[in-house]
Amino acid sequence: MGPPIRIQQVWKSYGSVEAVRGLDLTVPPQSVFGFLGPNGAGKSTTIGLILGLLRPTRGTIALFDQDLDNNRSVLGRIGSLVESPSLYPHLTGRENLEVHRRLLGLSTRAIEDVLENVGLMSASSRLVRQYSFGMKQRLGLAQALLGGPELLLLDEPTNGLDPAGIYEVRALIRDLPRRCGVTVFLSSHLLSEVEQVATDLAIVSKGELKFSGTTAELRTRSKQAVVLKVDQPQRAIELLVGLCRDLRREGDQLSVAPEDGIDAARLNAMLVGAGIRVSHLMTQHMTLEDVFLELTGPANAGGAV
Ligand code: ATP
Repeated sequence: MGPPIRIQQVWKSYGSVEAVRGLDLTVPPQSVFGFLGPNGAGKSTTIGLILGLLRPTRGTIALFDQDLDNNRSVLGRIGSLVESPSLYPHLTGRENLEVHRRLLGLSTRAIEDVLENVGLMSASSRLVRQYSFGMKQRLGLAQALLGGPELLLLDEPTNGLDPAGIYEVRALIRDLPRRCGVTVFLSSHLLSEVEQVATDLAIVSKGELKFSGTTAELRTRSKQAVVLKVDQPQRAIELLVGLCRDLRREGDQLSVAPEDGIDAARLNAMLVGAGIRVSHLMTQHMTLEDVFLELTGPANAGGAV
């Protein structure tokens, strides 16, 4: 069986706005795949394309190796939660699921399974209006899981939840492939969110793919930065240009990423040798957040010289 999602050279324009630009993505089976990008990056558009709600301007989308354009029935293998779940507050959790079960023509057993999988069995007889936000979101996930989908699409699933709700929904999502054999594709604008649940991730910015791989692979991109305070910042920048990337200046403080094989001691010796006084020198490791900001563009990173 092919990958749950394979997107090849997909473009989507709304008039003159190119929301998705040449996107290539392959989502491995049984992964929790984080689709990460700042606001306006094209995440919701991509989810709409995968759900068949939008059609690409160009390119192909295949789900489980079936071209979506020619095989709309493959959408039956997908569950989704793209906005807040629509729930009846005056019904119990179980009754809410019962409404969906009848619509889908499933056995009553299906309800027990999803209640178990989202950890709502003991609260299933309580009215939904008494549920916390986290419980409502879990019930929404239960609804999405009811038909036994092989792929689950979630758009910003922890948006609007308090820390306790975020924690419980996150733990649930992380466990879904193992518990239900489902592949999860989730969008978020928060790296911290995706980092904690995803096995694989893609980073998009302005409709373009900036990174695709595992979280561990993203980490290897985190480089060392050297922060220096000097008495002649402009001269120092001119001397550092060939030896470092990502030069940033704030007053007399410089932050640089040395090229391979060049360390802080060498930079210091070179500057001092050129008659520049270095009053402060510190090496820093870029966090994953720094890498994310760098990948998603100067508008987000700021301060580059
Ligand atoms: P957010 O997190 O803010 O929802 P996003 O990453 O989901 O952002 P999209 O909603 O897919 O991004 O939007 C991508 C781009 O396409 C944005 O510039 C947006 O303004 C534009 N866009 C989205 N939907 C439409 C539409 N129906 N008509 C015109 N432009 C649109």
